Amino acid sequence: MRYAEVSVNSPIAQRRIFSYTIPPNLTIDVGQAVWVPFGNKLLQGIVLELSDYPLVEETREIAGVIDPHPILSPAQAELACWISEHYLSLLFEAVALMLPPGFERKPVTFISSPTISHELDTSSLTQEQRGILELIYRQGKVRLRQLEKTLGKKKAQAAVSQLVGQGLAVRSYELEPVKVKPKTVPYLRLAVAAGEASQEVSRLREKRASKQAALLDFLVQQTEPVSLSEVRKSIGIPASIVKATVDKGLVKVQQIEVKRDPLAYQSIPPSYPLTLTAAQRSALESVKSSLMKAPGDAQPSVFLLHGVTGSGKTEIYLQALAEAIRRGKRGIVLVPEIALTPQTIERFASRFPGRVAVLHSKLSMGEQYDEWHRIRKGECDVVIGSRSAIFAPQPDLGLIVIDEEHEWTYKQSDKSPRYHTRDVAIKLAELTGAAVILGSATPSVETFYHAQTEDYHLLQLPERVTPSEGSSLPEVEVVDLREELKVGNRSLFSRSLSQAIVKSIGSGGQVILFLNRRGAATFIQCRRCGFVLRCKRCEVALTYHWAEDALLCHQCNYRMPVPQVCPRCLSPRIKFLGLGTQRLEQEASQVFPQARLLRWDSDVTKHKGSHQNILDKFRAHKADILIGTQMIAKGLDLPQVTLVGVISADTGLNLPDFRAGERTFQLLSQVAGRAGRGSLGGRVIIQTYSPEHYSIQAAAKHDYTTFYGREIDYRRQLRNPPFSRLACLTYNHTNDGICQREAERMKRVLTQEIDSRGIADLSLIGPAPAFIHRLRGRFRWQLILRGSEPSALLSELPIPQGWTVDIDPVGV
Ligand code: ADP
Ligand code: ZN
Ligand code: ZN
Repeated sequence: MRYAEVSVNSPIAQRRIFSYTIPPNLTIDVGQAVWVPFGNKLLQGIVLELSDYPLVEETREIAGVIDPHPILSPAQAELACWISEHYLSLLFEAVALMLPPGFERKPVTFISSPTISHELDTSSLTQEQRGILELIYRQGKVRLRQLEKTLGKKKAQAAVSQLVGQGLAVRSYELEPVKVKPKTVPYLRLAVAAGEASQEVSRLREKRASKQAALLDFLVQQTEPVSLSEVRKSIGIPASIVKATVDKGLVKVQQIEVKRDPLAYQSIPPSYPLTLTAAQRSALESVKSSLMKAPGDAQPSVFLLHGVTGSGKTEIYLQALAEAIRRGKRGIVLVPEIALTPQTIERFASRFPGRVAVLHSKLSMGEQYDEWHRIRKGECDVVIGSRSAIFAPQPDLGLIVIDEEHEWTYKQSDKSPRYHTRDVAIKLAELTGAAVILGSATPSVETFYHAQTEDYHLLQLPERVTPSEGSSLPEVEVVDLREELKVGNRSLFSRSLSQAIVKSIGSGGQVILFLNRRGAATFIQCRRCGFVLRCKRCEVALTYHWAEDALLCHQCNYRMPVPQVCPRCLSPRIKFLGLGTQRLEQEASQVFPQARLLRWDSDVTKHKGSHQNILDKFRAHKADILIGTQMIAKGLDLPQVTLVGVISADTGLNLPDFRAGERTFQLLSQVAGRAGRGSLGGRVIIQTYSPEHYSIQAAAKHDYTTFYGREIDYRRQLRNPPFSRLACLTYNHTNDGICQREAERMKRVLTQEIDSRGIADLSLIGPAPAFIHRLRGRFRWQLILRGSEPSALLSELPIPQGWTVDIDPVGV
């Protein structure tokens, strides 16, 4: 007897797998979608393993097969189990990541006659039951839903149950029809032989039915069916003419499936591999030598490709992919959602014409459906997409590329499974033998640490490739805002920045002013010396709470009143909260009355059209100064920008998060990369109250190594990742008091577990209100577990309703 271990589509199934007997008439493979009885329901399941021994003594039978082709590959089936264990998600949630769009559907119940017919004694049956039997006898099978409609739900179900009980009828189940259907278009072809059609053409002409004759004549000349739209374009005939010929039996309409290809409407000229620089060549050689590993035979080959924007990383991705394809393999390329611009897609599409699939959340359901099936059939050498594209059914996977690997968007934080794409990709590589390239100008500290400890291979591209003048990295000046206040300058613009703006605009250049909004209104800062109050225990900035007029540590719940004067310089102007883009715009228009301003943030784009419109306007030089937030920092190529000003670099530093320094470094490096992209060269000015901070200093010098050295020391001292792993437990409730009490109760439970198991290296931080304390009307409190393996403990405890668990969180 063979058994299938199935992940069942029910929240009750949790992280468990269930054994079912495989009935002798079914062939079942790993990855296949099946119907299984579960309680008193029939549910979808995915077979994750086959075995000779069931996990439990009593097993039920698989009820049927949903799709004869396996939906998950064996590697994906293993990956789903790993995700569920690692991130403590429901097993089916992990499986669902890999299912085709529109897969999760309900079963439809049918009623039909039993195969063995009984002597029918209908005398004891009600009139309705007799009616039902007659119907199924006539039609073969009937939808239960249809009976419910005519008889009423209760009556129909009772009548059917009795019939089934007496063996007079049987139930069977099928999947509800797919909502996303393959798209078809009408094609025309002759319904008669060509010779006959030609004779008909003459006859029609005699009868002065010249349009019908023209249509027929056109089709006679075709060797294959022609789409209706093409026919109409070629000979311009109305639909009624087509109908007339169809009615006469001369022409046939045939529905032919077409692909909704998201790239279809762009004609992209092909591109060819560039001759690599020496640094590129040696990086590519390393990657090449580790393509073609056998699955699971060793550690996967992971490369960190570290190089500034413009150093030629993408060209390496392209050539490494080409090599993998030459060896009969395929690739997946992941980019942050924001980088999924037409230009990025085009670079891949033009190198591998017709062989690229695009997957992202903005595609219609139908497009996603088509792309998924195209990929599964092996029609695409390269799949490019945002984080979920890692789950594409790409066969023969040989290479995974993650561009801008440090980006937050690679972590799914808002719903379970809360996976990190980078870690999933590396696991998938281990299971398939694929190689992984992680690319970044500012790698995450964890990734760089792995490169230093030689878990990953470090490949470096030290310089920009473009030989044109001005393509070197821009000069960065750090302005100390405390000095400005000393000389009485209370404006948002330092003397240096004002002069630079006037000069830039005067010489025909453009200016970007960047304001980091994230966290701006959450900490208070001395207006004179820039001092920010921090938690003595956790080192993170204290968060200001309006309601209580108090300062609060979001890691350990330490509280204090707002001091009357600055503890460092005794200035009474301590309560300075951040500013918004609107205020910046106002002040800019006063200080620079001649300049044309353009503001780019989510408020503006809400009613003034898309980001693209604003960008196009700026690129067309219809404005001199662009004011914006985070969005500006990302991969824009604006050659006329000769000056970038960062209004305050401090906001990011003061987020209550141990990654604040890393984030600030990454953001400033990216912003600095916006200037000097054209031949005009460029300058960057960073304003700050903490000019001595290592993140700011290192970003100003484009010096990743120094930044990393300082940061990794702090991580080691405070035992933060990569020297530990974190699990963030969040509880939410409409009542803040209940929330706090539950968080404290959970802390006691966890502390007890840790003590009784004697786990020495696991510590608990909190409970404390979450950084976003109130979200959609619910209060949130959090606990952080820190240690070498926090998920090992959590996986063995029941996590009560209302809690969410985030393993390896990206923002705490
Ligand atoms: P990155 O991905 O690191 O930003 P790209 O691969 O996009 O770098 O390269 C930046 C620019 O340099 C692109 O316009 C690219 O076409 C060009 N480029 C890359 N490699 C070479 C090369 N070996 N020779 C000439 N131009 C190159
Ligand atoms: Zn002060
Ligand atoms: Zn604290």
